Amino acid sequence: MATEARQVLVVGAGVTGLLTAVRCSLAGHQVTVLDRGAIPNPGSTSFDQHRAIRALDPGDLAGTRRTAVAHRRWLALEALLGTKFYRRVGMVTAWAAAEVDQVTAAAADADLPVSVIGPDSFPHVRFPAESVGVLEQHGGILLADHALAAVARWLGEQPNVTLRPWQEVKSVDPETGHVHLPDAETLKADLTLIATGPWSKSLVDLPMVLHRQTLVYLKPPEDLAEAWERTPGIGRIGSEGTAWLLPPGGGTLLKVSSATVCREADLATGGSPAEELRWAEQVLAEPILADPKRYTVMAVKRCHYLVDADTGAAHLKRIGPSTWARTASGGDGFRTAPLVADQILAALEDINDLGEDEG
Ligand SMILES: Cc1cc2nc3c(=O)[nH]c(=O)nc-3n(C[C@H](O)[C@H](O)[C@H](O)COP(=O)(O)OP(=O)(O)OC[C@H]3O[C@@H](n4cnc5c(N)ncnc54)[C@H](O)[C@@H]3O)c2cc1C
Repeated sequence: MATEARQVLVVGAGVTGLLTAVRCSLAGHQVTVLDRGAIPNPGSTSFDQHRAIRALDPGDLAGTRRTAVAHRRWLALEALLGTKFYRRVGMVTAWAAAEVDQVTAAAADADLPVSVIGPDSFPHVRFPAESVGVLEQHGGILLADHALAAVARWLGEQPNVTLRPWQEVKSVDPETGHVHLPDAETLKADLTLIATGPWSKSLVDLPMVLHRQTLVYLKPPEDLAEAWERTPGIGRIGSEGTAWLLPPGGGTLLKVSSATVCREADLATGGSPAEELRWAEQVLAEPILADPKRYTVMAVKRCHYLVDADTGAAHLKRIGPSTWARTASGGDGFRTAPLVADQILAALEDINDLGEDEG
């Protein structure tokens, strides 16, 4: 039996909300997307030059398999939108030499093509002593802001999608999924998804912790431009193996950061520009680049994300019969956004199944 068209409300037009809207629209549902800013919103977490897409997590084989599929969703999205925003330069993670066999075996179990590279493959990058790189060939860098703009354009052209930028949501009733706007307007739907990123605590009462991280954007010296063009994203480097870099390319700068500068925060307080510069200095002191003094700091930015207070990870929670919250999207919301979209679509199909049973 054909799936019945349903009404879907998406609150928040970051990567989670926009990808879910695409998936629901393609399935024939009526979708309304609300954001308190523009769509896409340059103030959202998702709106940045780049984000890494990788799947390999040797400690989580099931997760590796799931995100390997998500990677293909990004390629399919490029094809749908007819525009390129995925630089498939690969993603490297550094491992102690003794761990590499276990890591490559985990990749093989998840059908993820990887190869082992020596740290001297990228002499402009500093790998931890005695480490070896595992290159995930299907990984790469999303030009995040380009991707969001292309998705928003496509959504704006779909007859079954309504975009409502500059529309702050005041509250959402979890029991009914009703969305209340400041001017007393109430929106109703068959399913409501709340995907409001780090600002979610005012809309959803779930235990969540806010993290703040400092990102440093660098311009490499001219003579290394070509080498950087061929460099993948690289993670698990730095003094504690928690630093990472996203290479320049496609008009973007080199971006570096480290979990050593990730701290708990309150969105409303703290973080003067002077304090941010001190965090940036800490990032730059990490052993990430072979010759950091040759790079020009172009920008320093801070960015926030919520995690579930119980698990320290992302969550997608059903907080009412037809109300879903992707309020903690964690530090890898881009690679998992296609999976959230799948789950929301499946939830809509469940509503249809229930309807058929009742009928
Ligand atoms: C430093 C850093 C590096 C990261 N690197 C990676 C990476 O390499 N790979 C990866 O996969 N992920 C990465 N992430 C995580 C990823 O960026 C986030 O998980 C993702 O962008 C979250 O998207 P979102 O759509 O859930 O939220 P957001 O992008 O924050 O969007 C939420 C939207 O909701 C809107 N909104 C909020 N409140 C309201 C309201 N009351 N009414 C209406 N609208 C509202 C906001 O305006 C905003 O547009 C990183 C995160 C950080 C902080």
